[in-house]
Amino acid sequence: MHHFDYRGGILHAEDVAIPDIAAAIGTPFYCYSSATLERHYRVFAGAFRGQPARICYSVKANSNLAVVATLARQGAGADVVSEGELRRALAAGVTPDKIVFSGVGKTEAEMAFALETGIDRFNVESEPELELLSALAAARGLTAHVAIRVNPDVDAKTHEKITTGKAENKFGISWKRAPAVYARARELPGIEPDGIDVHIGSQLTDLEPFEAAFSRVATMVEALRADGNPIAHIDLGGGLGIPYRGDNDVPPHPDEYAAMVKRTIGHLGCQLTFEPGRLIAGNAGILVSRVIYEKQGDDRTFLILDSAMNDLIRPTLYDAFHEIRPVTEPASGAETVIYDVVGPVCETGDFFAKGRRLPRLKSGDLVAIMSAGAYGAVQASTYNTRPLVPEVMVKDASFREVRARPSYDAMLKQDIIPDWLDRP
Ligand SMILES: *Cc1c(COP(=O)(O)O)cnc(C)c1O
Repeated sequence: MHHFDYRGGILHAEDVAIPDIAAAIGTPFYCYSSATLERHYRVFAGAFRGQPARICYSVKANSNLAVVATLARQGAGADVVSEGELRRALAAGVTPDKIVFSGVGKTEAEMAFALETGIDRFNVESEPELELLSALAAARGLTAHVAIRVNPDVDAKTHEKITTGKAENKFGISWKRAPAVYARARELPGIEPDGIDVHIGSQLTDLEPFEAAFSRVATMVEALRADGNPIAHIDLGGGLGIPYRGDNDVPPHPDEYAAMVKRTIGHLGCQLTFEPGRLIAGNAGILVSRVIYEKQGDDRTFLILDSAMNDLIRPTLYDAFHEIRPVTEPASGAETVIYDVVGPVCETGDFFAKGRRLPRLKSGDLVAIMSAGAYGAVQASTYNTRPLVPEVMVKDASFREVRARPSYDAMLKQDIIPDWLDRP
């Protein structure tokens, strides 16, 4: 469910016509709907009513302060994977007691900052990290709540680049080694290993891998408790998928997911944390772009947009499908063309869709690349010295730029010509 619909033949975000935003700030831009963000949060939170669960939004999916602040107002905590994300969560109004710190390569400086901030807990992914966190906490006279992220060796059946719970992935500690790591953790000062954490991947469209992983976690919790570990907290990560193809693919509803959690984990009586990212932000954002040219090749027709892989890398990085909608609703029976939809970047990998049937479009037309709210703007770059794509937030009939397009001057000023070169 999202709030991007045609009204009077023009695509709107809530009550705002997309061409009005394009006229005000130019293209390309990301457009987020606050009503959609809030709705997704409430549906997920609502599914866990009656279970001792809290939701820490995975900031890496979309870290714009306006997005994080919108969710913080709804009661969301934050799952962060770097000091930068931690600073964003704090700046957006998430209190430290609702922040968890995940990630396989936390540096000493990052952990020190998180300890001094007083975040709720650390999801620890290796023995060396555990030893370092213990030393840093003990030196400050602090006690850090710790969950060991276990790698359950379960195939999430998602794209290989977003699978994280197989033995060959860099994430977590092998579930076979977990008992020994907990035993070591109990000896260490400055940490309290009272939790367990698992996250097996992203864009899961089937409950079965979750259920396999969570059942394994439940068995581990029982074994760890029998060894004398007071496990009171389970973090089940994120990963629930979203529909990218409209009604043609329907991932499990959060209600089904919550029922499965209750079935596999509920009897343990633990506090639960969830870290959804894509589920909250994915369908709450679109990338709006203008057609530069329609170009005829020998055997195909290219639609060249003013956005590119540097603005949205998902199609080329993950073979991701994004629906593409003309901003002006096509008349029924309008002529269609099979397009390769591409950007201006000098890479053959710079595409949004191949062989996609769309109404015939011409230079100047606006299109919306749908479901671009998660892992879109956060992965944007300035490759080809293209200004970082701006972001807009809509609420009802209002919109605000929540990250402005940088000027070329500002971009060039970031570089420094060393003083041993003659000034041009
Ligand atoms: C990326 C990530 C998430 C969020 O995943 P989604 O698929 O966006 O829900 C949650 N937890 C961890 C540890 C992650 O790395």
